[in-house]
Amino acid sequence: MKEPIKVFKFGGASLKDAAGIRNVTSILQRYKGQKIVIIVSAMGKITNALEEVVYAYFRQDGTADAYLQKVKQQHYSIMNELFESTDEVFAQVNDTFVEIDWILEEAPQDSFDYVYDQIVSVGELVSSRIVTAFLNKSGINTQWADARGLIRTNETWRESRVQWPETVENVKSQVEPALQQGMFVLTQGFIGSTKDNATTTLGREGSDYSAAILSYCLDAMSMTIWKDVPGVLTADPRLFDNVVKLDRLSYMEAIEMTYYGATVIHPKTIKPLQNKNIPLHVKSFIDPDGEGTVVSGEIEDFHYPPMIMVEKNQVLLHISTKDFSFLVEHHIKDLFTIFDKYRIFVNMMQNTAISFYACVTDVPDRMAPMIEELSDKFNIIKDEGLELITVRHSLPQVYEAVIHGKMVLLEERIGKSIQLVVKDMPAMTRKNNS
Ligand code: ADP
Ligand code: ASP
Ligand code: MG
Repeated sequence: MKEPIKVFKFGGASLKDAAGIRNVTSILQRYKGQKIVIIVSAMGKITNALEEVVYAYFRQDGTADAYLQKVKQQHYSIMNELFESTDEVFAQVNDTFVEIDWILEEAPQDSFDYVYDQIVSVGELVSSRIVTAFLNKSGINTQWADARGLIRTNETWRESRVQWPETVENVKSQVEPALQQGMFVLTQGFIGSTKDNATTTLGREGSDYSAAILSYCLDAMSMTIWKDVPGVLTADPRLFDNVVKLDRLSYMEAIEMTYYGATVIHPKTIKPLQNKNIPLHVKSFIDPDGEGTVVSGEIEDFHYPPMIMVEKNQVLLHISTKDFSFLVEHHIKDLFTIFDKYRIFVNMMQNTAISFYACVTDVPDRMAPMIEELSDKFNIIKDEGLELITVRHSLPQVYEAVIHGKMVLLEERIGKSIQLVVKDMPAMTRKNNS
């Protein structure tokens, strides 16, 4: 029999202002008396704003502090709506921001990626202080926990990997006792720390993954991510009309969808949950009574409607041998060694006699040196600003709709799944001069 622990994750959209924090509190009121672990992200778009601080700091053009002041002000104006000026949370938040002040006082000594993690992690540290304080003020007894004492990672800054045995031990020994005492436990998503206590981050949008890590460690009964949509939809409603909510999804379908761009769930979230057969609920924080979507292992042969995923910011690399020799296995091995070295992820590929096509996600600061290295051995043509569209369980009319106004550069079909690398193409119209 599993311990009845429920893990909840609230992302930036649910915490973007004082009303959002009040709404989260009213959702949590419904679960009083249960064992609840809460994971929060930074508020609203704060992670992007903190990235601006890091970029400015590395430019050393004197603007970093102004960017930081903006971030501080956003928090203080929300706090002024929620707290009395004498409340302890102001000192906690100030003390957290001081960490960034100290970094900015001196010119950068450490690598960009290391400093990035030290600065950007502050978004989650601050939001978790504010939400915990407001829950306690509202009569929900909640213990704040530092995720850096829970989630142990390696030292791959900005994309660190979880070290599971230490993490399981930390979570069990630190979180369970507070739950036993009847408190909710609230901690940060997205962040962890190395064995030397240096702060790390798990990759952008990684808070869903943090919640899955905690769910795994605690053998949770279920995990719920609270979103601004009614559940998992057949496509991103920002991009497509007439989308439909999926009531249930298998883990496998969810992994495929999220890997290819259904950003409603971080792709790394599913595996830890599947490993322990923990159901994932995707529910609306606007309509908490709504059924949402449940992702679980019990529905493999469900008949799904067509689903569309879009990955923006794609580059198509056309790689060919310089001397017209066939592009064979050892070339492909070399290519993947180089992709791996620069952490450039290949989303789709095809090859011909002397060419290899790879659709990869653009990361400009890693792409430029990678292309330079590839150019020693290969001719490279790069097509930028593309989209990778994936259609699962496709029907002919859906295919027609997604390619409308697009030029298809690469296409692959496996059963009813279609992948297309496309470029926007203005529709040509015939001039009226007969
Ligand atoms: P948060 O960071 O607050 O946890 P996100 O903004 O990362 O939430 O995720 C929710 C958003 O995911 C939605 O507003 C929606 O635009 C987008 N999204 C993309 N694909 C889908 C999909 N298939 N179903 C639902 N939402 C989707
Ligand atoms: N705050 C982090 C980000 O915006 C993590 C998350 O929101 O999941 O990437
Ligand atoms: Mg998010």
